[in-house]
Amino acid sequence: MQLPKTMISEEDIRKRVDELAAQISIDYADKDEIVLVGVLKGAFIFLADLSRRLSIPRHIEFIAVSSYEHGSTRSGAVRLVMDVRRSIEGKHVLIVEDIVDTGHTLHYLIDMLKSRNPASVKTCTLLHKEHKTEVDVEIDYLGFSIGDEWVVGYGLDYDEKDRTLPYIGMIDPSD
Ligand code: 5GP
Repeated sequence: MQLPKTMISEEDIRKRVDELAAQISIDYADKDEIVLVGVLKGAFIFLADLSRRLSIPRHIEFIAVSSYEHGSTRSGAVRLVMDVRRSIEGKHVLIVEDIVDTGHTLHYLIDMLKSRNPASVKTCTLLHKEHKTEVDVEIDYLGFSIGDEWVVGYGLDYDEKDRTLPYIGMIDPSD
């Protein structure tokens, strides 16, 4: 079995996650607590690593969404599949995503979570396909900008495959 070609190595991911955690720890140093909202399933490994490197009090929540599909095309509409367990009213929320592609998912999540009166909502994504943006969203903490390739590993899958690869690899879904 051939492994996906490396795009971002385990070592480069580790270094970047360290840097992001350090920056977030500085930015939230004066807050009582930060609520990290991980977007399932793709963000589970990134969230696990990031959260363990923070030096500030943190609370972990998860949320799951799915995109409406028409045949093989995604319409951009997003649906909530699983909600957070605890109220975020008055809390400092950081949405933790694996990848921002068109921006529809993150746009939906920001709007939805902001409507619940949190103290703040910021965003953190490991990867961003900046050339594919359809809706502008503010990314406060970004790991890496990448091209249009389909990426797998470190939480990201292709049809549930390659999700637990330790690095970010790229594949050609048409293969
Ligand atoms: P958006 O709403 O920004 O277009 O899409 C975000 C979602 O699309 C991500 O959370 C992820 O589930 C999926 N996605 C987009 N590009 C990739 C990719 O290259 N690899 C994987 N595994 N998922 C992707």
